Amino acid sequence: MHDFIFKNNELHCEAVKVSDVAEQIGTPFYLYSHHSLVDHFTKIKKAFAPVDPIICFAMKANGNMAVVKTLLNEGAGLDIVSKGELEKALTLGADPKKIVFASVGKTAEEISQAIRAGILFLNVESVPELEEINRISQKLNQKARVALRINPDVEAPTHSFIKTGTLEKKFGIDLRSARRLFKSRSRFPFVTINGLHIHIGSQITESQPFIRAMKKVIEFLQALRKDNIRLEYLDMGGGMGIIYKDEKPQTAQEFANRILPYLEQTQLKIVMEPGRFIVGNAGIFVTKVLYIKDNGFKKFVIVDGGMNDLIRPSLYHAYHEIVPVKKTKSPSMKADIVGPVCESGDFFAKDRRIPRVKKDDLLAVMSAGAYGYVMASNYNMRPRVPEVLVKGDRFEVVKERETFADLIRGERIPEFLK
Ligand SMILES: *Cc1c(COP(=O)(O)O)cnc(C)c1O
Repeated sequence: MHDFIFKNNELHCEAVKVSDVAEQIGTPFYLYSHHSLVDHFTKIKKAFAPVDPIICFAMKANGNMAVVKTLLNEGAGLDIVSKGELEKALTLGADPKKIVFASVGKTAEEISQAIRAGILFLNVESVPELEEINRISQKLNQKARVALRINPDVEAPTHSFIKTGTLEKKFGIDLRSARRLFKSRSRFPFVTINGLHIHIGSQITESQPFIRAMKKVIEFLQALRKDNIRLEYLDMGGGMGIIYKDEKPQTAQEFANRILPYLEQTQLKIVMEPGRFIVGNAGIFVTKVLYIKDNGFKKFVIVDGGMNDLIRPSLYHAYHEIVPVKKTKSPSMKADIVGPVCESGDFFAKDRRIPRVKKDDLLAVMSAGAYGYVMASNYNMRPRVPEVLVKGDRFEVVKERETFADLIRGERIPEFLK
């Protein structure tokens, strides 16, 4: 499942001792396993082989160039959400024919760059956006390919902030508007609408919500057929859940077994956009204990990493397993594991039972590969931490720790203050 395992009571990433990396580069840092990345990608590829999908890794989950390159080497395409991600993808030599672009708020510049790059399609999230794409295509004299992101209005049992497939949410086009839009597609002569896109949310551990969404898609496709509209692609989005705590997520194979019949029924070319499933358990965040504080009411383990490095616990109340990098026989204690940032929301765990730790012990925050580094900020003037990629017994820093110069880059004192 992943390659972070204890050998001789020491946490390893593949054949590398986590404590060796800490010694060499200091803490905190993110650590990724090349083998886990490849393994998770391959699991999806094998499970869905009957429909031979284009598997577009959702770059927003982890945009590190070495991580993305690892997946490109395996034949992945990319799901992007901004011009920055497009530029990064092209810099890495990604095949534009395997890039899809979703975002509710694409700027004219982003649309124009995506069209000129010749990406597979833009996932359109509103009628005004489609009008804008049509206008830009005409100007560029280059037809844009688009898929309509429909909002199937199905509930997914996941945190509200990562639910996207209900009409309460800003994403996608409701089915009625989508049907109307298809009927009036001659209003958009400079775009080819040749696909449907859905993405109902993230960290979904069961197939039911996906199946409910697929049933709506199939109904919708039948309606389109009546109107004599045929499409080429179905982009089924991402959202496959992983284990953080005690979830029992379906495996890629179990998911495929349940969903493939519906995918095959559409007879469309399938695009997938997994993010978390590929990178989530392929990375950890390593941090060092600075102090143990006991205020008579509760204990706090104060570590050198903070919410600015890994915001998931603060933002989504997400659970991450936290383990000492060296296994000890010490009795357990209950404590909050907190960072140095001046916010009460700066915590990795609350009332967590962990082995008794002491100053300078290393802790691994598990399953931190997705939506970890990419959401990091410089809050409290804290430099972003390094990212390290392990392959076998080798490791390399694939993003350097930021310096003070990075932190103040672009800032200036205006003349009138001098
Ligand atoms: C975020 C996102 C994904 C990836 O979601 P995961 O839950 O990480 O698999 C895929 N598609 C779209 C449109 C997204 O916004």
